[in-house]
Amino acid sequence: MTIKPITIAIDGPSGSGKSSVSKEVARRLELGYLDTGAMYRAATWWCLREGVELTDADSVTAVVDTMPLSMSTNPDDQTIRLDDVNITEIIRETNISSKVSAVATNLEVRDILRRMQRARIEAERTGGFSRGNGIVAEGRDITTVVAPDADVRILLVASEEARLARRAKDVHGVADAQAVEATKDEVLRRDADDSTVSSFQVAADGVVTIDSSDLDFEQTVAAVLQVVENVTGN
Ligand code: C5P
Repeated sequence: MTIKPITIAIDGPSGSGKSSVSKEVARRLELGYLDTGAMYRAATWWCLREGVELTDADSVTAVVDTMPLSMSTNPDDQTIRLDDVNITEIIRETNISSKVSAVATNLEVRDILRRMQRARIEAERTGGFSRGNGIVAEGRDITTVVAPDADVRILLVASEEARLARRAKDVHGVADAQAVEATKDEVLRRDADDSTVSSFQVAADGVVTIDSSDLDFEQTVAAVLQVVENVTGN
């Protein structure tokens, strides 16, 4: 019996937990996993490494168009390489987080990455890591632009307070007042900038909203799996 491949699209603001939750859902359902935010982060690192001014839109587009990105769709191996440099950790640092929106708001860069993302999704539906079972793709515009025809579309949201506390813990190890303050640029300013090119604060038609403010990790994964079951009967 052939099983029909499934595409699960998950969007959300920063600190909503979408990366860790999406990765775990991919593991449990034996699907591929695509972290599109990592692609924008990699593009930003590449521009800086190539010495391109992020305000120079044409040069940014040109170098992103030829970046030699290597990234797996295996949720247990998210090693990311550019030009043979392992950039998995470095692209999570504040220097990249604070600059990534400048690259992500370049509409030509979005066209290039959208094409790459669609190709990855398609490849995973026909073979790839999951042997054709399908993929969980997450980001800011997956439910609306990259894969609006995905089988399951979810917007994962959380209160500002919950998102700031989670990100502060991720980055600083604690969520006290000072850490939360230091995280505001990375969460609130970044989301405000990103919102100028993608719509991820309110669910589009047909997209199911899950609010994780009062859910722990396991409960959020369960909520996503429940939506998948409701939609697909699996
Ligand atoms: O999810 P993450 O925080 O790693 O995303 C990094 C950045 O990549 C976002 O702040 C946004 O600028 C950009 N992004 C995007 N569209 C996506 C995914 C991420 O613009 N689908």
